[in-house]
Amino acid sequence: MAGSSPPTIGILALQGDVAEHEALLRGLGVNTVQVRRADQLEGLDGLVLPGGESSVMDKLLRLFDMKKPLQAMLRGGMPVLGTCAGLILLADEIEGAITGQETLGGLDVCVKRNAFGSQVESREERVVVRGIGGPPLDVALIRAPIVTRVGEGVDVIATLDGGEIVGVENSTMIGVSFHPEVSGDDRLHSLFLQKVAESQR
Ligand code: GLN
Repeated sequence: MAGSSPPTIGILALQGDVAEHEALLRGLGVNTVQVRRADQLEGLDGLVLPGGESSVMDKLLRLFDMKKPLQAMLRGGMPVLGTCAGLILLADEIEGAITGQETLGGLDVCVKRNAFGSQVESREERVVVRGIGGPPLDVALIRAPIVTRVGEGVDVIATLDGGEIVGVENSTMIGVSFHPEVSGDDRLHSLFLQKVAESQR
């Protein structure tokens, strides 16, 4: 980011709820790029991995030769926000993966896919997120994962009333089980943009 010009945030746009993230980020005054090819990763200040279907995104990332460059950028410290399927893509380990499903990794957690079962596939929740002031976030949980193991260097930033871990972060990554972009609450994205700003100091 040069001087005080707004950062450019990529949104992985192979599949999933790209438009909702784009609308929130634009509302916060940043430039956005829908990322469909590896060369579009260049020059980004941060990246959002949207909700959708993690196994499909995994396949497409490999098919389009985007997995390795993306992993290199994540290892290099590019800030990333993953929501739902995006969290699954960041996790080092998954429970309930389909055969052959891989992740990008880098976030030392285990996530359990579709953890709320088939009967309660989506619901709305109010979630308190560490670092976000004001009332709890109104969020959607849509065939959501939960975090079942939290490793070194990872902090829990959100839990449900039953104790289920639904938000985590490390120094460059934020991963949440829920979709603030569906309900339109932009405070998690603001928190992410703070991480982006910190990474540029
Ligand atoms: N169940 C989906 C998956 O495993 C995630 C759902 C979502 O992103 N809303 O990828």
